[in-house]
Amino acid sequence: MSNELCFSSVTELSARLADGEVTSVEITRALIERTESVEPRVRAFTHRDAERALAQAKAADERRAAGEARGPLDGIPISVKDVLASAGEPLTCSSRMLENFVSPYDSTVIERLKRAGVVLWGRLNMDEFAMGSSTENSAFHPTANPWDLERIPGGSSGGSAAALAAGEAVATIGSDTGGSVRQPAALCGVVGLKPTYGRVSRYGLVAYASSLDQVGPLGRCVDDVAVLLGAIAGHDPRDSTSVDVAVPNFAAEAREKRGPWRLGLPKEYFGDGLDPEVRAAVEKAVDFYREQGCEICEVSLPRTEYAVATYYIVATAEASSNLARYDGVRYGHRSEKASDAIDLYFHSRAEGFGQEVKRRIILGTYVLSSGYYDAYYLRAQKVRTLIREDFNRAFEQVDALLTPTSPVPAFRRGERTNDPLAMYLADIYTISANLAGIPGVSIPCGFTASGLPIGLQVLGKPFDESGVLAIARTYEQTHDWHTRHPEL
Ligand code: GLN
Repeated sequence: MSNELCFSSVTELSARLADGEVTSVEITRALIERTESVEPRVRAFTHRDAERALAQAKAADERRAAGEARGPLDGIPISVKDVLASAGEPLTCSSRMLENFVSPYDSTVIERLKRAGVVLWGRLNMDEFAMGSSTENSAFHPTANPWDLERIPGGSSGGSAAALAAGEAVATIGSDTGGSVRQPAALCGVVGLKPTYGRVSRYGLVAYASSLDQVGPLGRCVDDVAVLLGAIAGHDPRDSTSVDVAVPNFAAEAREKRGPWRLGLPKEYFGDGLDPEVRAAVEKAVDFYREQGCEICEVSLPRTEYAVATYYIVATAEASSNLARYDGVRYGHRSEKASDAIDLYFHSRAEGFGQEVKRRIILGTYVLSSGYYDAYYLRAQKVRTLIREDFNRAFEQVDALLTPTSPVPAFRRGERTNDPLAMYLADIYTISANLAGIPGVSIPCGFTASGLPIGLQVLGKPFDESGVLAIARTYEQTHDWHTRHPEL
C-alpha cells in the first residue's frame, strides 16, 4: 500500500484525498518511509525534516475535515530543489558557500505552493549553484540515477528527477537555465517542464543566469506538471521580468486541445552525436504523431551550432556578476583566515566555491572584461537574437517542434567530470530554448536495451505551455513508459 502511494500521481492522490480514501498524513508517512529505505542509495536530498512535513500534512487533513480544503494540491507533498528560498529551511544551492544558510523568507513559488496547501517534503540535491548536467558538482554528494545507480541522474536538478523516479517524492520543483529540468527528467524517465521566460516568478530563486533562469515542475505525468505550473505561474511585482499575462487552466487546456498539429523536426537536432537508440525512440514517437494525423515537416534552426558557445558566454557572464554577492560579509561562508577585507573576500570565495563555479566565474569575468567584451559578450548577445529569430521563423510554419531532450541516455558517474566540454554538450538540445525564452517539456518516450529512460522534447511558442502540454499528453495517453518504475 505505502509504495503504491509513493508512485501515485498528484492527480490520483488528489482524487483519493477528496474521496476521503487516504489522508495527507498517510501519504507523507509513506514517502518518509520509502525515502528512509532507498535514500542511502539514491541520495537525492540535501535536507529533510519529517516532523515538519507531518505537521503540515496534519494541518491539511484538518482543513479538509473542516470543509476548507484549498484545491487539488492541498495536502500533496512537494519536494523542492535546494535553490528556492523557503522560510526557516536550509537554502544551500548544494554549495559550501551556503552550507549553513537558512532562508529568512519565502520565494514567490514557495509562497504560492503554501497557499495551495502543499506539504513541503525536503530539499533536493543539485549541481552547485545549478551549474552542471550531472549533479556531480554538488559540494555534498552526487545523486544516483534510480535506473542504474552507477549512472548520473542528469542535472542540475538531478535530485528533483531522481527523488521522483525513486518514489521518494510525488512531484518536485526544479530550475532550468539551460536544460536543468528537462534533461534530468529525460534521464530519469519522468516529465519536466521549462515554462516561458517570465511565466513564473524568479523572486527568491537563487540567481545563476538571470536572463535564462526559470522555475519548472517535474512530475510523473503531464497532468501533474500542468497542475503544478498552474499553482506557481503568474505575474509577480517582485520580479520585474515576470510577465503580466493571464494564467490559463493549463491542465484543462491540455486535455481539451486535440490537434492535429503541424510539428517540425529541426534537422540540426538529428545530426552527429545523437545516440542511435535515442534517435530510434524519438523517431518512433514522431511516427506516432504522424499516425494521429499530425503534419510532420523538417525545419531548420541554422544557428543551432552556435548555441552552446553563446550560452556559455551569456550564462557565465551573468553568473560572474550574480555570484559577486558572496563575499563572506553579509551571509554565506566566511573564512577564518582573513586578515583584512580583501583577504576576507579572497579566502571566503576560494574556500566556499567549488571548481566548476570558479571556472564559470573566471570565464564570465573574462568575457565581460574590457577589450574582450565586444568580441565575446556583445557578440553572444547578437547571436542570441539570431537564435530567437530562428525559432520565430520555425513557428511561422509549425505549432511546435519535436526533438530528443538529451543526445545520450544517462552516462556513468565520473565519465565526463574531467572534460567540461563533453559535459557542456549534454545540453545541446535544451539550451536554445532558454536563449529564446520559449517553453519546453520532456516526456518519457522509451528505454534503451540496457533499461535507461529516453526523453522526447516538445518546444513551443512563447506562453503556449498549454499547447506543448497537450501535444505531450496526446502521446502519453497511449504509451505507458511513464508508469514504469526502477527496481531499487
Ligand atoms: N547544464 C547547464 C549548465 O551547466 C544548464 C544548467 C541549468 O539549466 N541550470 O549551465
